[in-house]
Amino acid sequence: MLQRLLSFHRTLSRASHRTLAACLVILISIPASISAHAQAYVGKPKLVVIIVIDQFRGDYLNRQRAQFKNRGFNLFMNQGAWFTDCYYDYANTKTAPGHATIGTGAYSDGHGIESNEWWDASRSDEMKVTSVEDERYQLVGVSASDRTVASSPVNLRASTLGDELRLATNGKAKVFGVSLKDRAAILPPGHAANGAFWIEPSTGRFITSTYYMDQLPAWATQFNASDRIAQAEREANAVGTTKFFDAVGRTPAANSYEFDFAKALIKGENLGQRGVTDLITISLSANDIQGHKFGPDSDSENQMILALDSQFDSFFTWLDQNIGLNNVWLALSADHGIAPITDEAAKLGMNSAMLTMTKVYQRLEEQLNERHSPGASVQYLMPGPELPYINLNKHAFEKVHVTEQAAEEEVASLLPEIVDAQNPAPLPTLKAGQPDQTPPSRHRLPAAPQFAGAYTRLQMAYGQLPQTELGRELAHSYAYHGNWFVMLLLGDYQMEDIRAWGGTTHFSPWSYDRHVPLAFYGAPFVPGEYHERVAPVDLATTFAAELGINFPSAAVGRVLTVALQPEQTKPAAHRP
Ligand SMILES: [Zn+2]
Repeated sequence: MLQRLLSFHRTLSRASHRTLAACLVILISIPASISAHAQAYVGKPKLVVIIVIDQFRGDYLNRQRAQFKNRGFNLFMNQGAWFTDCYYDYANTKTAPGHATIGTGAYSDGHGIESNEWWDASRSDEMKVTSVEDERYQLVGVSASDRTVASSPVNLRASTLGDELRLATNGKAKVFGVSLKDRAAILPPGHAANGAFWIEPSTGRFITSTYYMDQLPAWATQFNASDRIAQAEREANAVGTTKFFDAVGRTPAANSYEFDFAKALIKGENLGQRGVTDLITISLSANDIQGHKFGPDSDSENQMILALDSQFDSFFTWLDQNIGLNNVWLALSADHGIAPITDEAAKLGMNSAMLTMTKVYQRLEEQLNERHSPGASVQYLMPGPELPYINLNKHAFEKVHVTEQAAEEEVASLLPEIVDAQNPAPLPTLKAGQPDQTPPSRHRLPAAPQFAGAYTRLQMAYGQLPQTELGRELAHSYAYHGNWFVMLLLGDYQMEDIRAWGGTTHFSPWSYDRHVPLAFYGAPFVPGEYHERVAPVDLATTFAAELGINFPSAAVGRVLTVALQPEQTKPAAHRP
C-alpha cells in the first residue's frame, strides 16, 4: 500500500510538469494539427489494434530507419506519435509479464504475472505451472497430441483495456487476441475477451480454449483447412515440418501467417463494422524465436525487421481498404528487449559472460546439505534454473525446521561467493608488505560472471528494498504463487549459460532488456518523435483516457498528454 501511495504521489508531481509541457505543445501545435487531423477525426474509433512484437528493442527503429519504406513502421514514425525512450519499469523482463503489462497498464505487483511459469506447491511439486495454465478447461481445435495445456487468464489479477471496453459497452464491443503463443494471445486482451487464438506448436493450426468457446468459429476452421499452413511452410522452406512453431515460427513467414489469421478474424467477426469500438491485440512471436538463436545484431534480425516493415505496410493498407485508417487507432510496442550475444559484446571489450547455473546449483546444494543434512543429498532447490529466479524446495527446508526467511536469506548470502568463483581470473588478495606474485597479463583477461544482487521473496513482499530506481523496479516485479524464491541479478551483459538452446536471452533489469518501442497512430495523436521517458504501462491508460472509459483496475500508467491532439481540434460531439 505504501508503495502504491508513493508511486501515486510521484505520478501527481510528475503530472503537474507534464500539464505545463502539454499546454506549451498545444499552443505551438494548434495550427498544424487542425489542418492535418480535424477533418479526419471521427470521435471514437471503429477498431483499436494493439501490436506487440515479441522481443523487439527500442533502438531497432532508429538503426533501421533509413531502410523503411511505405506505410510500415513509417506509419508510426512519420505519421504517428513515436516515443523513442520507452522502458519497462520492472526487473523481470519476460514474455508473459510484458504482455500482461501492455494489456493492464500495471506491473507484476498489480497484474500478478511475474514470469512465464512458476512453481506453485498447491498445484504441483513435479512441474511448473505456466502463466496461463488452467486444467479446468480444454483446448479447442486441436488435431495432434501436443502437450499444450488448456489455458485461461486465471492468473491475471487485473483488468485490461479490452475488459474495460467490454464493461463500458455492456459487452457490445468485441475483444480478441492473436499470437503463436498461448500466453501472448490470452494475457493482453484479458478476462472478458470474446476469444484468444494461438497455434498448436506441431501443426501451426490456430486453436483456442473452452474458456472462450466450445468450438472454433467457422472462419477459423476454414482458415485452418485452407492452403495457408502449407503456404507458410513453403515460404519458410519447411515443407511438411512437424515443428511448425520452431521451423516456420522463426522466419518472417510466421508474421504474414499471423496477419492473415488476424484479417480472417476481423472479417469473420465483423470487427470495426458494428457501430461500436472493437479491439484486437496481435502479438508477433517470430522475432523472439529467431532472436534468441541469432541475437539482435545478426543478419537474420535485420531481415526479419525489413520483412516486417513490408508486412505492416500490407496489413495497414488492408485495414485502410476494409475499415478506413481514419477510423482505426493503432499502438505498437514489445514485451521486452534482448541482450547482445555475449561473445560478440565481449569481443568489443564488454564484461559480457555466461554463468554456468548447473555449477551454481550444485555448489548451493552441497553447502545447504553440509549445513542442514550432513552426509545426505537432500534437494533444497527446485529444478531450474530460469533466471532471475532461484526457487527453493520449501518442503525440504520445512523438514529440517528452517523458516522461509532463514532459507531465502541463507541462499541469498551464499550466492555472491558462488557466482564469483566462476571468474576465470579473479583479482588477487592484497596483503600489506607482500607484493603479488601473479605475472601480469599481456592481454585483456576473459570476461567474468559478476554477482549484482540477490533479493529474497520476503524482502520483495515487505518492500524491504533499496530506495533506488532498482528497488522500485524490483518492487514492481513481485507477485506471489506460494513459492519461496530468491531473485538473482547478474552484472550487465551477463546471463545464465543458455547455449543448449540459444544464443542470448532477456530476464534482467538492465536497459537493453527493458527498452521497447512505444508508438501510436490515429486521430487523437499529434504526429511527432517524442523523447520523454515513458513506459509500456502508459499504452493502456492513454487509450482508456481517449476512449473515455475507466483505466484497467490496477493501472499505474500515465496518459501521454504530450502527444494528444488538443480538445479544440476535436469535433463537438466528442467533447463532454
Ligand atoms: Zn523470449
